[in-house]
Formats: sequence, C-alpha cells, structure tokens
Amino acid sequence: MQFASRLDNVETSAIRELFKLLGKPGIISFAGGFPDSAMFDVEGLKEASQKALTEEPGGALQYGATEGYEPLRTQLGAFMKTKGVDVDPSGLIVTTGSQQALDLLGKTMISPGDKVIVEGPTFLATIQCFRLYGAQLISAPIDANGVKTDELEKLIAEHKPKFVYLIPTFGNPSGAMLSLERRRKVLELAVKYQTLIVEDDPYGDLYFGEAPPPSILALSKDVPGSRELLAHCGSLSKVLSPGLRIGWMIAPAELLAKATMCKQFSDAHTSTFSQATAAQYLKSGRMPATLAHVREVYGQRAQAMGAALKRELGDAVSFTQPQGGLFFWARLTGANGKLADANELAKRAIEKLVAFVPGAPFYAEKPDLATLRLSFATADVAKIEEGVKRLGQAL
Ligand code: PMP
Repeated sequence: MQFASRLDNVETSAIRELFKLLGKPGIISFAGGFPDSAMFDVEGLKEASQKALTEEPGGALQYGATEGYEPLRTQLGAFMKTKGVDVDPSGLIVTTGSQQALDLLGKTMISPGDKVIVEGPTFLATIQCFRLYGAQLISAPIDANGVKTDELEKLIAEHKPKFVYLIPTFGNPSGAMLSLERRRKVLELAVKYQTLIVEDDPYGDLYFGEAPPPSILALSKDVPGSRELLAHCGSLSKVLSPGLRIGWMIAPAELLAKATMCKQFSDAHTSTFSQATAAQYLKSGRMPATLAHVREVYGQRAQAMGAALKRELGDAVSFTQPQGGLFFWARLTGANGKLADANELAKRAIEKLVAFVPGAPFYAEKPDLATLRLSFATADVAKIEEGVKRLGQAL
C-alpha cells in the first residue's frame, strides 16, 4: 500500500517488538512503563464513577466541549494550585492522556523540517510523534541533574528550534531530576531566545522522599515574560490510572486555541465519562492519600532495586538512585571484561526470564548502546530481587 510520506521517518518502536516476548511464562519484567494495577484506588474510582452517573448523567454520557468538562477543568486548576501554579480553568485544556497533548503540540507547532530540541535520552513516543510531523530532532545531553543548560543554550543559539521539549522531573527513561538552578536557567533561556519550552510532567507527583523543586511552570512567576513561552503537560496516568486517559495542557491562550481546534478534528473531546469520573475523584478528597500510597510503595521498590543492582551487578553497572518516577537508568561499564552492549544483554536476559529495555531507542541522535532502562513499578520487592539476580547471571 502507498502510505503517506510522513511515515517514512518513523519506525515501529523497538520496545513493542520486545514486548511480544514478555508473555513467556515465569518472566519478571522491568520493561514496561506501566504503573502497578494493584495500586489503583478501585473503591475510590467506583464511587466517583457512580456519582458521575447519578449526579450528572447528562454531562458524563453526552458529547462535551473540546476544551474539557468544566467541573474537571476547575478541579485540575485546584490540583495545580496545590503545586504552586495559578491557572484559571480556561487556561488549561483536558487531553486524552498527556500523549495527546504532545501530539497536539506536534500538530500545531511543527512544520516538516522544523528543529526541535529534546533531551538525550527522552520519551520514545515523543520522538516518534514529533518525527511524524517532520521534526528534525536535536539531542541535548543530560546528567543526573537533568539537561545540561550550558549545552542547551549553545544548541538553542545554533539551531533556533521551534521549541525545546523537556521532562524535568524524573524523566522517562532517565529518572533524572532537573536541579532548581537549571530550572531557573531554562526560564532565562526561554526569555533570552524567545523559545517555547514544553514541560512534560507526568511523574512530578511521584517522589519518594523530599518533594522535587517546583515545576518550571510554577517557577515562571519569578521570571518576567517566561509564562508566555511555556506549555506544561500533566497527567493522572501514573498516579491514578492510565486507563482513564486524562491529561491536560496549560499553555498561552493563542496556543491553546489552536490545539483545541486540532483536537476538535481528532477526537472531538476526551471521554466525558472519564472526565466526570476524574472530576468526582479529585473532588472527593482522596487524592492526597492515593499519592502518599503510591509514593511509599514505589519508593520501597526503588530502594530494593538500587540495593539489588549494587549487590548483584557491582561495578559492571553505573546508575544514580532515582528520587521519584518509575525508572532506573543504568549504564553497563564493561568493568572486568563484562558485557557493555545492552541489546545483547537484553537477549541473554530474556533467556534467564528477566526483561528490560535497552536504552538506544530513547536517543533521537547518537545512541549510547551501553544504557538500559529498568522499571521498578510492576514487580514487588521479592520479584525485583529475583529479577536483578537473574540479570546478574545474564551479565
Ligand atoms: N510523557 C511521558 C514522559 C511519559 O512517560 C508518558 C507515559 N509513558 C506520557 C507522556 C504519556 O502518558 P499519558 O498519555 O498516559 O498521560
């Protein structure tokens, strides 16, 4: 079949191929980016959906406004307020997962050949999505404190990108957290070069100890002129339920209007039933306890994985202990003649019945073949320990 040329630069994700192997009996998977289904607040969501149907059946089951269901926009505005962001309900739109917000940004901002700066590594689906719109992606290097802002400045000055896409808090796959100092620097760069910054923040609420620094959006109050250069994407997927498909985008009015127009032709609106359920849930006041619960459980798993990696893999692997999110980002050092190719290790690991994702596909440019992503979200502590032991054997 003759498909559209926009598909020419986009491949089926390497991760999807790997996922086909995950059905093997007895496999322990560190591969997925999913939260743990056992952690969903089923009771709370049952109550919320019941209420949505009894109190507002017209709203929950009817077509709705493209911008989002008003009671949910109000609740999301209040939720953002708890995170230091003042936003009017009209200053955000509800999206079908934050993935749709990324797609709408691609649709509204990227013409074929436009340059976009992303982190190296970054979220794979973003790479694919922006490429679908013909973006030329440029990778900015990161370390454990997130994107290196000096390098970022050079790249912005050289390439004059359409926008810069960052996952500042517990990045996928990097787990890195952008320092407060660098967040401020990013805002200064936005103003200095008049560049749009996209802050993708699905993991910011998922911290294990101290809260991370405020989002770039929250910090924009201190940097005159920066708020008009920011788009912020949020999501209930990682903390509440990805199946609800509730995300949101906060952006300058002009950009929100264009994104809303594009959304209208895409899915008309996000499921009103999901939106009404999410609105009732946020209104019920259960969210703080839910957040405390997921932080505690994922925090324990992250601890267990860090300790097991040190114990079982020793100096064959280097990593920074993540302070939140769902992922370890590790690098095979090749110490003592051990394997330093994560693709090869992934194959051997599957034979030992443990799975993870090699890091290379997460790079838009110049992949580091020694890197790998390990999710600690879905396996319990005992499985994490057993899985990492198998990984050590595979290595
Ligand atoms: N951004 C990042 C960085 C992600 O990791 C994910 C989910 N894996 C998303 C966006 C999309 O999430 P959702 O559409 O479920 O909100």
